[in-house]
Amino acid sequence: MDELVALCKRRGFIYQSSDIYGGLQGVYDFGPLGVELKNNIKKAWWESMVYENDDIEGLDSSILTNPLVLKYSGHEDTFSDPMVDCKSCGLRFRSDQVPDMCKKDDLTEPRQFNLMFKTNVGPIDDGESFAYLRPETAQQIFTNFKNVLDSTSRALPFGIAQMGKAFRNEITPRNFIFRVREFEQMELEYFVKPGTDEDIHSSWVQKRLSWWNDQGVPMESIELYDVPSDELAHYSKKTIDIMYKFPHGLEELEGIANRTDFDLGSHSKKQDELNIKSKVIKNKDSNSKLAIQNDNGDWEIPYVIEPSAGVERGFLAILNEAYKIEDLDDGKTRVVLNLKPHLSPVKIAVIPLKKNNDDIVKLAKNIKNNLQKLGMGRVILENTGNIGKSYRKNDEIGTPICITVDFDSLENSDVTIRDRDTMKQIRIKIDELSNFCFDKIKS
Ligand code: ATP
Repeated sequence: MDELVALCKRRGFIYQSSDIYGGLQGVYDFGPLGVELKNNIKKAWWESMVYENDDIEGLDSSILTNPLVLKYSGHEDTFSDPMVDCKSCGLRFRSDQVPDMCKKDDLTEPRQFNLMFKTNVGPIDDGESFAYLRPETAQQIFTNFKNVLDSTSRALPFGIAQMGKAFRNEITPRNFIFRVREFEQMELEYFVKPGTDEDIHSSWVQKRLSWWNDQGVPMESIELYDVPSDELAHYSKKTIDIMYKFPHGLEELEGIANRTDFDLGSHSKKQDELNIKSKVIKNKDSNSKLAIQNDNGDWEIPYVIEPSAGVERGFLAILNEAYKIEDLDDGKTRVVLNLKPHLSPVKIAVIPLKKNNDDIVKLAKNIKNNLQKLGMGRVILENTGNIGKSYRKNDEIGTPICITVDFDSLENSDVTIRDRDTMKQIRIKIDELSNFCFDKIKS
């Protein structure tokens, strides 16, 4: 973990937030390379969910949430962790995360602590006019269920996908970006006919494992955890957690829950007409039935299967898998990030052999601009005049392709391509570059 944290800071992936004022615990900023990797992870998720499936729509709902949403979702009452205070060191911990150095006798009885952030809305701070910062993106998917259904004319099964910020006042944020107070989630709510839910739940577990594998997080680094009934969240009939071997230990990367009809049922009016199977809070405020009328005209609430992953935890797992220190033939070592090319923050580095040679630099700039237009992601001009140093830097940030422009390039219209993983160099014509790079990045 220490090596990853150091790499992230050195190369501009992740910085402590508000660093110049001593930081803010559990909050991080993503630097020039971090923002690219994060965006690429989210893009891969969005494409695999919304574009590659024919029955999933996207949504981008607000972060500020009407308190009623989180009242009826159950978060106001149940979204809390049991906390204990250590009388010896004076610190507060989640009761299942007390460090070994604190003795049992020094701990207070556990007390519930709600994890939601509140903020004042409007000009008057009277304690009544407030909104929550959403603790998960899911709830506004449920409150928009009818809107999406009506505007897209979908039939079951269909899903709504959303990515975005979520906020939790974690008492013990720790392990770098693993447990933070501000993070991003990638959540799908997949609405199905009751009775088909168990099979569809299992199939989403398999689909999500295959997606993580495509991002460079293989099955060997994963264990599935079938959450026992006494640990299930209040809305869940069954949850399978995808547990990843993080540098600090085996922990949850993504949860795939069968939320039954709890959420749509909870947010509906006239609940007694809807044949709701789960135990919901009586709703006196909703103006909508979040249900579907079946062929007999009866109202039915779909069940929901929810794969919910954290972007930061994905980022950490992907980085951890990609990070390698390799021994080279000359006795030296190199640090390399074997990122899947579609995730690499920089796709291609174009390196002029001589930084002061106008013709070489001009040709390199031209190549850079033309490749940039192909829409593969970020292409950089690396005009340091030091090829070895440029290769080392680009290995360390995971750039799959380096292109060197030299004197021969001016004569023969060709360039040297160096592959990040094999370090092999080949010579190819400039007009073949687009196809070559495209194939490599999309591989
Ligand atoms: P944990 O038990 O680790 O606190 P959770 O079960 O509360 O996690 P969920 O509510 O299922 O988490 O949220 C779905 C996903 O959101 C998690 O699998 C994780 O990837 C991510 N996530 C949740 N809390 C955090 C956090 N504090 N920091 C970073 N990511 C988080």
